[in-house]
Amino acid sequence: MGTNHHSVTVKTRLDDEGTPDEERRVESVQFVCTAPADADCRTYPECQCETFNWAEDKTRDIEGHPRVSGRDCWMGDWFEAEGAVYVGDDYDDMRDDCIPAIERGGHITVFFQEEWIEWKWAEPIVDEAAAQRAALAEQSKHYTETPMNSDDGRDE
Ligand SMILES: [Zn+2]
Repeated sequence: MGTNHHSVTVKTRLDDEGTPDEERRVESVQFVCTAPADADCRTYPECQCETFNWAEDKTRDIEGHPRVSGRDCWMGDWFEAEGAVYVGDDYDDMRDDCIPAIERGGHITVFFQEEWIEWKWAEPIVDEAAAQRAALAEQSKHYTETPMNSDDGRDE
């Protein structure tokens, strides 16, 4: 497989902590594209059309709009408009975007569905507790200049 340039970071918050209504919710979903300027996801016709089809020579679309590289990744708008629907096995159908309230970040795989996009984590689902521990470890990295204990085998 080629290099994956698309990743998402999901942040959560705990509402009504310590009460019967306690519930973890999705706080933010951040999409990042690191693809080079000439990547397909950053190359599309100079127009406001929602969809397009390339003309045969690929220098413009069939409407005659010229092909332009180096634009913002087209997927970003979908995430900003909450039009990106999560379709992983642990999807949460109580939410419009189906994103489960689990802190997680990583590469994603995107599926274009004409009217919206779907995505899931590119790596297999890890167990939730491990994901939480990883998130905490990531956070504590920012708060401690040196590791608190060097004997629990942090692998390089
Ligand atoms: Zn992209």
